[in-house]
Amino acid sequence: MLRIATEDDRRRQLIEATIETLAEVGFSATTLAQIGRRAGVSPGLVSHYFGDKDSLLEATLRHMATRVGRAASERLAAARGPRERIRAVIEANLAPEEFDRRTGSVWLAFWGQVIHSQRLRRVQVVYQRRMLSNLRHALRRLVSAADAERIAVATAAVIDGLWLRATLSDTHETDSTAARAIAVAFVESAVEAAEKAGSLPAPRPTSMKNTIKNHIGGRPIDAAERKTFETINPATGEVLAEVEIAGAAEVDAAVAAARAGQKLWARMTGTERGRVLKRVADLLRAKNDELARLETQDTGKPIQETSVVDVISGADCIEYYAGLAASLSGEHIDLGPSAFGYTRREPLGIVAGIGAWNYPLQIACWKSAPALACGNAMIFKPAELTPLTAVKLAEIMAEAGVPAGVFNVVQGFAETGRLLTRHPGIAKVSLTGEVGTGMKVMADAATTLKQVTLELGGKSPLIVFEDADLDNAVSGALLANFYSAGEVCSNGTRVFLHRSVKAAFVEKLVARASKMVVGDPLDPRTQVGALISAGHMEKVLGYIEKGIAEGAKLAVGGKRVTAGALARGAFVEPTVFDGCEDGMAIVREEIFGPVMTVLSFDSEDEVIERANATEFGLAAGVFTRDLTRGHRAVAALEAGTCWINHYNVTPIELPFGGVKRSGLGRENGKAAIEHYTQLKSVYVALAPIDAPY
Ligand code: NDP
Repeated sequence: MLRIATEDDRRRQLIEATIETLAEVGFSATTLAQIGRRAGVSPGLVSHYFGDKDSLLEATLRHMATRVGRAASERLAAARGPRERIRAVIEANLAPEEFDRRTGSVWLAFWGQVIHSQRLRRVQVVYQRRMLSNLRHALRRLVSAADAERIAVATAAVIDGLWLRATLSDTHETDSTAARAIAVAFVESAVEAAEKAGSLPAPRPTSMKNTIKNHIGGRPIDAAERKTFETINPATGEVLAEVEIAGAAEVDAAVAAARAGQKLWARMTGTERGRVLKRVADLLRAKNDELARLETQDTGKPIQETSVVDVISGADCIEYYAGLAASLSGEHIDLGPSAFGYTRREPLGIVAGIGAWNYPLQIACWKSAPALACGNAMIFKPAELTPLTAVKLAEIMAEAGVPAGVFNVVQGFAETGRLLTRHPGIAKVSLTGEVGTGMKVMADAATTLKQVTLELGGKSPLIVFEDADLDNAVSGALLANFYSAGEVCSNGTRVFLHRSVKAAFVEKLVARASKMVVGDPLDPRTQVGALISAGHMEKVLGYIEKGIAEGAKLAVGGKRVTAGALARGAFVEPTVFDGCEDGMAIVREEIFGPVMTVLSFDSEDEVIERANATEFGLAAGVFTRDLTRGHRAVAALEAGTCWINHYNVTPIELPFGGVKRSGLGRENGKAAIEHYTQLKSVYVALAPIDAPY
């Protein structure tokens, strides 16, 4: 791993040296020898890494374009609404780090060459197209399609012009801040003028006019401040509903309701609680089709998945813990003739559940089932992108006879989550989310010493040995990467293939991946639906660009799908990168989209070491006909969940969770009981106290 990190660092160092040299002496005077001198290495080493000068220059331009593209993707992902999205594009392109004279002169050196070099031109075209398409996409929400096109082109020209003048003029006409303000003012006045002239965006259909409220104490409650957000169908752009945000008043009300409800609930016997929970599971199954449709609309996942997995696996989990509830017990401890001890397994009190957007209903069930079976109350906050089905679960809980206040739903963004994680009345937080969020949640929870269960991200390895049944392994790899459009935490996105079977495997893989049906998520034939949002699609496309820039070979896919009505949604082709190396960002970082990376290996020891060389440790898969090797390999893999000759199956009976930075604690199985109860030890004297005083 050290070797790989060093190579990666060396490439970056040479690219930086190229930028410095270009800034200083310009395009034609830049030579490999000069770059090598600046980097303190021989020209031979420079060509070892990049071949000739043209290749090094192309890699440098890609590096710079990817940096801007990535900055834009990150800003776009965080932006809320079309105006913020336009500002995000402007800010990324006119950021101070792109605007200084040194970087400006390097960009200029490249732009001057673009007309002479096909290779540089290709990079520039992708960069320009992306900027235009981001602007156009956001503008279409504000004005007509024709005006959006016109204003997008004009804005791109303003961005380029501002940058060019700042680089060329001696009088420092603008700095980055002033340039951004000028560009923003330009778009705003253009949009305002178009609006005044009656330019209207294409209507965004609304399927539901209702406002979703926080569900507290067994019923919907009006939020004090009445602030709302929209939830959008990512396949169509349609607004599904308005959702009221829970602030401090609502979170306090939920804690008060949960406290009252939990007292009643904990007093019931496990058998009684189990009986109520079994009714919840039955109702979920009875409403499977309705809930699956809603989940598909809210997430963009295909109905052929949600109708057989999302609701059902939630119901299975609730049924499983309903069955366990009656068997919860402490233990008796013999302390000799004068005493005995026993432990009581008691609930923690109020538990906060904070969910991710990829399996909204399933996550709500996976968290509430063990929590409620153990006698706790839960306050659940779904991800703001997918707020709908948790409310349905709350309604079903009420219908099944779960006492008011035992399961509450509060809605909102990270701020609402923080109100929960820092609330002194809450005993535990169970989060499903990104590693960074997990760290913040744990730090906040520490302020009141709450317990935490963290189900976080991953970049899991899937290893195919030379003796594996290849067709079966290809099935596993497809499931491990493209189910739910790749938005699955445990996905096996680093596919390690033994060198001797790699070519055959990739051929079979590409043949099957290229036939996958991307389409309307509500169409039962669709196998790959929409990604969760336009912002997330940008992030995924940004990684695909980065993969190409890093030199990985696109074996299949790689593009956004915009055929017909799909143009309104966030669809990306199932994508396979061949020729990957361990140090590439697409191999190291969680993409959370339909992007598989393929790597080759020669020996078992080598692949285990490389598979473990990551900060993540959520899952791993091994395909081999040699069972001894299968068990030996999974014992050596640093992952919370492993599969031999399968991938991504998560039966409720088996604990699920991560090691290293992929999480803390376990969901599912009997193991989860430990995380939702605490033990009270009781000493019972059977003889008088022998007091020494
Ligand atoms: P995020 O971490 O962005 O968000 C998760 C939840 O935490 C959301 O409800 C979010 O609110 C909330 N949140 C964000 N910041 C804070 C904060 N500071 N304090 C409290 N709550 C906060 O994850 P995503 O929703 O983007 O989900 C994708 C991630 O989840 C991926 O990394 C994936 O691997 C992981 N995941 C892990 C699973 C596992 O079991 N290990 C299973 C499924 C997904 P809001 O969204 O409203 O801002």
